[in-house]
Amino acid sequence: MRLTTRMMKNLNFNFDNTYANLPDLMSTKLAPIAVKKPELIIFNKELADELNLDFSNINVQELAEIFSGNKLPEGSVPLAQAYCGHQFGHFVMLGDGRAILLGEHLNKQGKRFDVQLKGSGQTPYSRNGDGRAALGPMLREYLISEAIHALNIPTTRSLAVVSTGEDVQRETNLKGAILTRIASSHLRVGTFQYVAAKQDLETLKKLVHYSVDRHYPELKDEPNLAISLFKAVMKKQIKLIVNWMRVSFIHGVMNTDNMTISGETIDYGPCAFMDQYDPKTVFSSIDHYGRYAFTNQPVIANWNLARFVETLLPLINPDQEQALKIAENLIGEFDDLYQDAFHEIMKKKLGFITDEDNDKMKINSLLKLMHKNQSDYTNTFRYLINKKTPQDKLLNDPDFIIWENEWQKRIERNQSKEEAIKLMMQNNPIFIPRNHLVEEALSDANDGNMEKFEKLLKVIKAPYHDHTDQFMYTNPAPTGDRVYKTFCGT
Ligand code: AMP
Ligand code: MG
Repeated sequence: MRLTTRMMKNLNFNFDNTYANLPDLMSTKLAPIAVKKPELIIFNKELADELNLDFSNINVQELAEIFSGNKLPEGSVPLAQAYCGHQFGHFVMLGDGRAILLGEHLNKQGKRFDVQLKGSGQTPYSRNGDGRAALGPMLREYLISEAIHALNIPTTRSLAVVSTGEDVQRETNLKGAILTRIASSHLRVGTFQYVAAKQDLETLKKLVHYSVDRHYPELKDEPNLAISLFKAVMKKQIKLIVNWMRVSFIHGVMNTDNMTISGETIDYGPCAFMDQYDPKTVFSSIDHYGRYAFTNQPVIANWNLARFVETLLPLINPDQEQALKIAENLIGEFDDLYQDAFHEIMKKKLGFITDEDNDKMKINSLLKLMHKNQSDYTNTFRYLINKKTPQDKLLNDPDFIIWENEWQKRIERNQSKEEAIKLMMQNNPIFIPRNHLVEEALSDANDGNMEKFEKLLKVIKAPYHDHTDQFMYTNPAPTGDRVYKTFCGT
């Protein structure tokens, strides 16, 4: 590896690479494979500012060289991480097959961020893949991750997309691209599964310490770090999933390698936001059995967390029978914790500040009415706030009219209506990246026209702000356009 010739000085990255110092089995040190003709397609200036990365003295071509991996910023120790994963329930050895971690950057507040290139060429973990990514899916990840962030939901972010000037072969030939992903870390449930599969107890201990240090430093004096880490991750994941449910986000591939220890949303493949409310909605073209359907997301989170706790058994208690009992009790808490968190978030969506006995029933009957009428999920909740939403069949349903009357009385009883509406406005977005608009924007972007993409990005970056001139972005897809599938692995 002759990295020195590719190093670029005086970029203000402030690297402090701790992952590279973990035991060797956890990663392979290697550089991204250079590409033919990198061109900067989009750059996230706002995120660069948050990272205190000032590229104002660097020209666009140099930026393209950096964010394609052709040039490496000084201080980078590039590597591919090893991990495993249960994909659709089947255990597989994986790892970064098309990604390279450039390093961990510290901003001025000392906050640590992984800087990773996705689509950067083959690695020892590529299996049969080409290590590359296509422009459409990378722009899609950029857009959706920025939407999730703007919705106040933890997520990895996107700093840049660069086209490579090379084709990638999928069903057809597509333009190649590389995404720069920023994450608080890339530690996954699958990372623990990898170390557990290697049966390397020392490394497992190190990984637990490392994860606590990096994400849950407040736990460092707890008597059993593995147990405390597990509980903390479970809480974070529950918070994440109820927020996905709040905004109708369907991840699409909740494999254990796509579940982070930090609680950030990661790996935007066949994900999408649901328009018409149907709990069984699936978008992924390869999810034939609805494993990752909207309503199944908590069930799968629970399942993935069970896989996580299994990896920790040797550290939970030296007596494995005891350890198993403890683990079962830990995972057994998921259902109640999730139900409580879900109830709390639905209360916010409906403006319930106080508690009333019938709240659960009210929430459920609205969801049933929405399902029956195939109502637009996002618009229904916004309708309750100010009635300024596109027509929806639900609004003429006599049962809904009764429901709405009762809801009106409920939010005016024992609480301030203004406060209720304020709470609803903070929790019910006006704008989500609607699938038909995303597809239109990506199709144009693929032909070199970024106008629709930029406009959509602007709208989804302020999802709770009412702009009347953006009303068209609240329309669900025309009826003929409604069957929607996304394709992953591209
Ligand atoms: P994902 O579905 O994006 O979570 O990826 C699952 C696994 O497949 C990860 O280990 C990826 O690194 C790997 N992978 C996906 N696409 C490719 C590709 N084009 N080349 C090599 N590895 C890939
Ligand atoms: Mg993945």
